[in-house]
Amino acid sequence: MNSIKKNNNRPSAPRTLLNPVKYLMIALAISTFSLNASELNNHQSHNALAGDKRLIKHLKKAQHHNRHQPVDLKLYVFNCGEILARDISIFNPALTPDEQIIFSDTCYLIKHPKGTLIWDTGLSDSLLGAPNGVDAGNGAFNLSVSKTLKSQLDEIDVDPLSIDFIAFSHLHFDHTANTSYFQNATWLIQEVEYDLAFSPEAEQFFFNPQDYSVLQNNDTIKLNGHYDIFGDASVVIISTPGHTPGHQALYLNLAETGPTILSGDLYHFQQNREEYGFPVFNTRKETVHSFALVDDLLDELNAKLWIQHDKPFFNSLNLSPAFYQ
Ligand SMILES: [Zn+2]
Repeated sequence: MNSIKKNNNRPSAPRTLLNPVKYLMIALAISTFSLNASELNNHQSHNALAGDKRLIKHLKKAQHHNRHQPVDLKLYVFNCGEILARDISIFNPALTPDEQIIFSDTCYLIKHPKGTLIWDTGLSDSLLGAPNGVDAGNGAFNLSVSKTLKSQLDEIDVDPLSIDFIAFSHLHFDHTANTSYFQNATWLIQEVEYDLAFSPEAEQFFFNPQDYSVLQNNDTIKLNGHYDIFGDASVVIISTPGHTPGHQALYLNLAETGPTILSGDLYHFQQNREEYGFPVFNTRKETVHSFALVDDLLDELNAKLWIQHDKPFFNSLNLSPAFYQ
């Protein structure tokens, strides 16, 4: 397990970004998914974006280019459960111990003209109907589900077996249930997260191998940084380690809603965003870097941050079958 690090919640994040340009090839259009081994390799090498500066430049250029011909994206937001955390100070040691907080647990479907992506798969549909929820983490949490992910996909006529890509912000148990629905999806995961997931330490990192082991049979692209999924800078995985070694956020260039970043667990709630608070088990150096990178992206791209676990924010969203464009 990561060493527990205290923080003063005011990281002096460096505003200059790393620029280790290793390789870069912007992808040409890839029209179908169901990739064979060499196509998987090509997809991986063509769509990888090395370096934070290169990432920002790539996204800015595409924003400008797509101003008059935006990519036709649709974003669906699903209610994938609720988490009662009985001690908010786990998520920010500067806050009062034993104060409770309720988190939303949110999943998303992105429809792109060239394919579909499920981003996070929430708490297990099997929790539906548990009258008082289910305790987890030795009672630190209570988990509940009021509507299954499957029923929400059914409602918009999406067969989970038709989904092309699956990616998690990270592999904590509250993001990785229901994976057996998505057996045909290509799994996009940071290599460091994958290696940890199948190591003996996985459960010490709050991973639940029973949830995601089924994905070992899926096509998998192991990432080492940022990744432009469809090659047109409209749906881009942003490497943001710190909460877990391979934590990632998701940038979406939505035509009407505007540029949007799905936070994963970069921040858990608005107060942490304002105070740069983070959980006791995050690694500080990586977290501070990820905070600075996302701040830069929000500034440079005029993007909004959607904090996935923030319940008041979640309550303000239009849930599926409505969608954002
Ligand atoms: Zn979470």
